[in-house]
Amino acid sequence: MSVTTVNLYQQLAQMSGLEVRRDEPMARHTSFGIGGPADILVIPQDTVNLVEVVRTLATAGREPFYIGNGTNLLVRDGGIRGVVVKIAGALTGIEHDGNRLISAAGESLAAVCHHAAQQGLCGLEFAAGIPGSVGGAIVMNAGANGGEIAQVLEWVEAINAGNEVNRYQRSELDFDYRCSQFQAGRWVITRAAVALTAATPSQVRQSMYEAVEKRCQRQPVSDRSAGCIFKHPPGDYAGRLLEETDTKGMQVGGAMISPKHANFIINTGGATATDVLALINQVHDKVEAKFGVRLDTEICIRGEDM
Ligand SMILES: Cc1cc2nc3c(=O)[nH]c(=O)nc-3n(C[C@H](O)[C@H](O)[C@H](O)COP(=O)(O)OP(=O)(O)OC[C@H]3O[C@@H](n4cnc5c(N)ncnc54)[C@H](O)[C@@H]3O)c2cc1C
Repeated sequence: MSVTTVNLYQQLAQMSGLEVRRDEPMARHTSFGIGGPADILVIPQDTVNLVEVVRTLATAGREPFYIGNGTNLLVRDGGIRGVVVKIAGALTGIEHDGNRLISAAGESLAAVCHHAAQQGLCGLEFAAGIPGSVGGAIVMNAGANGGEIAQVLEWVEAINAGNEVNRYQRSELDFDYRCSQFQAGRWVITRAAVALTAATPSQVRQSMYEAVEKRCQRQPVSDRSAGCIFKHPPGDYAGRLLEETDTKGMQVGGAMISPKHANFIINTGGATATDVLALINQVHDKVEAKFGVRLDTEICIRGEDM
């Protein structure tokens, strides 16, 4: 760790209400269970605390890497130089305002779905079973079964380049398939509102239950993964192309293409990011050779090689 990073660590460690860790293995913060150390990992207590961190880092000329629950993330084996700020579990809370649910960015999407079902609010059924935080879901425009978070989003609050918390209406924001302008990484999402529709609680609960059941049947939900590795190419499914290329069960080190779902790579134990990346390249090339289609990765890949 450089002298300036050590100084920054000391400065952050003196701020009240923050959890600050040095050389923190990112494997502890990703659903893959893979990833080298971050020089500094900061977990703020609340939005006020987060604003202080963002300003301190801006003054030090540092751009942090924000993470939610790390369920769409592959961190390379050399880890992340600089500061990682973890929002999941830190900024929490759900408020209810008519048919609108307002959630802090670190709240789990599952908790918001549960709240919607309890209140008899429909619109989030597609999201049942998607792991991760509300902030991560907005950045990735997470979705399933034809639905995506951008469809129900009303507004997002984020700390912008001027280090102020600002509210942005959905109409001011650009979203695309598994894509949002937040992926540039300059803003951190703090809160968001989804606009839902009144329905019967038991109906919403039933639809969510069915969505989760379907997911459990088709996906390796009890294995360590980061969800789908590749985005669907226009008009097709990445899983179909991978399945028809006989990739299921392919393995590099501890990384394996799930025998249950060809678009999932699972960590069978001791997998490294290098294993995962080598496997991604192998199956990518097999699909390109057979179908002439170049698949794009859906997961976020960050950090340095060993
Ligand atoms: C078993 C499994 C099933 C999955 N199924 C689906 C699915 O059906 N559909 C789907 O879309 N995804 C799926 N995923 C992927 C993943 O769960 C989603 O993309 C999820 O929304 C990511 O949320 P997260 O909090 O874990 O984000 P992270 O993985 O922590 O981060 C994702 C990106 O968001 C950024 N980010 C996170 N929080 C913030 C914030 N507050 N402010 C600014 N930037 C932030 C990070 O920098 C990163 O670029 C699945 C994953 C697993 C493991």
